[in-house]
Amino acid sequence: MVADTAIKTQIKKLIDLQKIDGEIYNLRKDLQEKPEIIRAITEEFENNKKKLKELDDQLKTILLKRKERELELKTKEEGILKANGQLSLLKTNKEYSTKLQEIEGLKADKSLVEEQILVSYDESDKAMAEIEQEKKKVAEFEKTFAIKKKTIDDEIRNLDERVKSLENERKELLPGIDKNYLSRYEKILDHKDGLAITAIHGSNCGGCFMNVTTQMLNNIRLNEGLVFCEMCTRILYLEDNL
Ligand SMILES: [Zn+2]
Repeated sequence: MVADTAIKTQIKKLIDLQKIDGEIYNLRKDLQEKPEIIRAITEEFENNKKKLKELDDQLKTILLKRKERELELKTKEEGILKANGQLSLLKTNKEYSTKLQEIEGLKADKSLVEEQILVSYDESDKAMAEIEQEKKKVAEFEKTFAIKKKTIDDEIRNLDERVKSLENERKELLPGIDKNYLSRYEKILDHKDGLAITAIHGSNCGGCFMNVTTQMLNNIRLNEGLVFCEMCTRILYLEDNL
């Protein structure tokens, strides 16, 4: 049987260890979230760049189509000139009026193409304005992205350093702790969200809030060994029993 003072000393040491381990647990959780934050802002940046590329492609398509229309317009104009030139060579009224009809048709086609070209200018103006806006957005994002990324990298470095320093503090505590208690404590720590030992609040376990029986309270006060929560298996202690 471990003496009263010995068990109380062990519990106090485990409480000290828990303070360190609790902080390490939270720091590691923070650390785990950082890559996800970087991934999210990288994705947002990539989406902005993708949108800019899409707008560029849209503009290229508009310009390409316009070039086709302009060629078409030229063909129509040449057709009109040619048909006009043929008018004086025609011998019959029927041929003449057929040619006139042909010219009217070409003129109608021509104004349709001209209309399409005008619309295309509106479209390209709109696309260029959007591209300008998106370019500004991408440039702005590029600047803030670098800053955000650096901030997170700095945070990661700070967290890492703090974890290392806590791990050193932890190492110094270990020699004073009973091997069996330590091994039990560490198993619980791994499986119970970084909380292995907890005070009883009122008559409830501070870890799972389950009601602690009078028998268990009595066992704690006997100071004969560690007492575990029947529900969550965490080590229990009473503040006024230390
Ligand atoms: Zn519990």
